[in-house]
Amino acid sequence: MKRAILDCYTDEPSGLGVPPYLGVYPRYIYGRIKPAYYLTIDDLRSWKKKKKQSSKPSQKTDISVYNTTKNSQDVQKILESISELIIILGVHTPGKYLSAIPGTLREVINLTRGFKCKKVLTGPAVSGTQLEGGKFFERVNENEFDEMRDYNFDFNDLKAREGASVIKQINDLRIIEIETSRGCPGKCSFCLEPVKHKYVRFRKPDFIINEIKELYNLGCRHFRLGKQSCFYSYPWLEELLKVIWQECPEIKVLHIDNVNPNSVTDEKTELIVKYCTPGNVAAFGVESFDTKVIEANNLNTTPEQTMKAIRIINKHGRKIGSNGMPKFLPGINILFGLKEESKETHNENMRWLNKIYKENLLLRRINIRQVNIYPGTDLQRTAGNKYLKKNRKYYWKWRNEIRQKIDWPMLRKIIPEGTILKEVRTEVYDGKTTFGRQLGTYPIIVGIKKRLPLKSFFNVKIKSHMLRSVVGEVV
Ligand code: SF4
Repeated sequence: MKRAILDCYTDEPSGLGVPPYLGVYPRYIYGRIKPAYYLTIDDLRSWKKKKKQSSKPSQKTDISVYNTTKNSQDVQKILESISELIIILGVHTPGKYLSAIPGTLREVINLTRGFKCKKVLTGPAVSGTQLEGGKFFERVNENEFDEMRDYNFDFNDLKAREGASVIKQINDLRIIEIETSRGCPGKCSFCLEPVKHKYVRFRKPDFIINEIKELYNLGCRHFRLGKQSCFYSYPWLEELLKVIWQECPEIKVLHIDNVNPNSVTDEKTELIVKYCTPGNVAAFGVESFDTKVIEANNLNTTPEQTMKAIRIINKHGRKIGSNGMPKFLPGINILFGLKEESKETHNENMRWLNKIYKENLLLRRINIRQVNIYPGTDLQRTAGNKYLKKNRKYYWKWRNEIRQKIDWPMLRKIIPEGTILKEVRTEVYDGKTTFGRQLGTYPIIVGIKKRLPLKSFFNVKIKSHMLRSVVGEVV
């Protein structure tokens, strides 16, 4: 049977598959069904709209067609020749993406209409998807697809490794998202992870290492151990990190994502600083510093525990690394729209963030978003969008206060004027400005007031600071 995979990109609390990241779904599925074509939503957009990147200096890069594959010239031929199209789609934690736009259900239905092949929907969208924060999920109309399939991969089998060769169909550099565990002992009111996976299961180091080795042998050098709810909870952390370097000594980036502050210890932090590359970030799902909200939503960390974890990571990780960034810093996620949210919630968030700032502790970034409401979660059953509706009028003001009073001065401490950031990769144009970032987890966006060749590396000296980005010049 001839098949194609259509990657519309995925973003979940534990796992990112939006370019420049390559998520686990396309690799695991490819491993199971290969040979198969790999297409992206950008390939379909560019075929359908006959769109090409403009090279006019006045124009912005069109990020809707930025991530085409080696198959982009043959989209029609491929779609006419296959008997099954496996569509990977689903955004549960929408963000702003510098050089990609994930596909929506409506878009993919329109773009694939008229093709006779069997259309199979898979990925996080099977439980709903939403590209904008603060909304209910986009419902799947099952009539539009021939099948909804949950692949239910066993990550301790060989298929994951065998899917690595999908990278051969991508003609661009990718940061490879690697899975280390599934499930979460927590039960946060809004989260689908405990709904999707009843138990916490850890992937054996051998399987992770063999998968990384396979990708490494195909030329991949940038990895993030990011698909899990807490990297610090991984039981074979030292063995894993040590053997990755023994087997793949020329890795350029090895970062992590998602950490539960309760699990942070001095010992594990030292290991992560030792074995991972600089610019690394532990993203803490704090969501709120308001104890009422924490209790009502069953969040799994208290402000005191978060402070303790921030102190530990700062103690071991804030030294500047070889790429110009601190070696390892914490990051914080704040979520608007949770149960019991009030004006006092914002006051509490500001009180604790100020405390962090005044103690001269560094946070690499504060991610603020509005909660999405997914079926099967406690939030959907008990409150829905009640608090979003009630407090939405304050969100701009709350967010702006955090950006102005905490983010901006913090950024100036982390990347002071004159810092040289190494290996900034240029990604998009906006008029005469080029935007780029280092490859890795949560890299800072760098604006350079010049049109530089894209997808190239430059060392950049920092000249000034925006709220969440920096401006620099090539040195
Ligand atoms: S800690 Fe909470 S938000 Fe994070 S994965 Fe677990 S249940 Fe989900």
